[in-house]
Amino acid sequence: MKRKQLQLVVALATLALVGLVGIQVFWFSKAFSIEARQFNEKANVVLRTVAHQLLLSQHDSTSAIQPITQTSSNSFFVRLTTSFDYATADSLLKGQLAAQNLPLAYQLAVYDTLTTQLSLGNYSLPPLANNTSGACLTRKQFQYYSSFSVTFPSKNRHLASQMGIWFVTAFTFLIVLLVFAYMVILMLRQKRLSEMKTEFMNNMTHELKSPITNLSVASEVLNNALVREDPVKLLKYTSIIQLESRRLQAQVERVLQIAALEKGEVALQLDRVDVNQLVQTIAETVGIAVQKRNGQVLTNLQAKTPNIMADKLHLSNMFYSLLDNAEKYSPQPPQISLSTRNHDKGILISITDEGIGMSAQTQQFIFEKFYRAPTGDVHEVKGFGLGLSYVQAIVKAHHGSICVKSTPNEGSVFEVYFQCA
Ligand code: ADP
Repeated sequence: MKRKQLQLVVALATLALVGLVGIQVFWFSKAFSIEARQFNEKANVVLRTVAHQLLLSQHDSTSAIQPITQTSSNSFFVRLTTSFDYATADSLLKGQLAAQNLPLAYQLAVYDTLTTQLSLGNYSLPPLANNTSGACLTRKQFQYYSSFSVTFPSKNRHLASQMGIWFVTAFTFLIVLLVFAYMVILMLRQKRLSEMKTEFMNNMTHELKSPITNLSVASEVLNNALVREDPVKLLKYTSIIQLESRRLQAQVERVLQIAALEKGEVALQLDRVDVNQLVQTIAETVGIAVQKRNGQVLTNLQAKTPNIMADKLHLSNMFYSLLDNAEKYSPQPPQISLSTRNHDKGILISITDEGIGMSAQTQQFIFEKFYRAPTGDVHEVKGFGLGLSYVQAIVKAHHGSICVKSTPNEGSVFEVYFQCA
């Protein structure tokens, strides 16, 4: 899938999901307001019945019950024209709430008709769970209340508990959303990997093409009898063949090694290795190539305990890869330094260059297989994007760690840590 197509698919799917989330929120709030309306209607029925029964308890069957006022979302006020006592109102309320299947805690407050002052109030636990009377009911009961209000502090919680199916739907939807996000991430990753693989194939073909061309040219020349008779020319062309076939072998070996490492097929041959000595030898070897570019490789080997248990071959390949990069990515005469020091029961090896450096974003991906920094100049430098992934695999296989510090246009430092033997 092309990048544009992928972006379109992701954008459309995200738009569809945003729409679905909107619809979900709309229906959720609608369902909540329907539940709230049903609750208010039931509360109205309860309070009118209580008012009616209070009137009857005072042998008043003629007074009209005034409309119940909702003073806030969870409070209701009932005005009566007759006196009643708190205990009767409380027990009638409990009974009616139970009858309407509204098992909620409530606050009952009764008011004096003339002064409109609060006379008595009490908090009562859910009527179905609690049959005991409130504490204030044991006090002296007045007979002059004529209004009362009921508040349900847990109304919203009760409404939420009635909406179980909606929560299940919302939860299912959330899972769908998470799965979608995960799939998009996987798709983008897959896309990036396939782009990197394509680039790798291009690089690889390019890198293999030049030794193969040189080999075929050299062997064609050797077919010429005149050339074969000239020992100088013969030596020249046979050494070209040797050099190019070694180069070819090294390229193939690198790819095979990384594939084998990935499958966990590489068995390390652990020996006691003196890191100072190894680093010194590598610095001298790489130094020859670096000097040809008017650069230098400096060493500062301070580790007093330089021994580690390691596979010497893989360890040297690893350092060669790091130094190779330090040289490759230094467009000016390379200034490379190699240092070792002991740290936290181990040894820390730093490879520093003053090359092109890397942005913070590039640094996140450099250890990934096939990754090559996608910007301008870097592509002029040959490579497969496998060096650092090999380095990391070897470090991991030796239970060590690696980190990079780099600033664009200033240079990079790679620090490798291994436990001492
Ligand atoms: P390759 O060098 O073959 O591209 P590597 O895996 O060795 O592959 O490196 C991955 C990428 O990390 C390189 O393409 C380059 O962009 C970046 N990189 C590695 N080492 C350095 C360095 N010393 N300085 C600047 N960039 C580096």
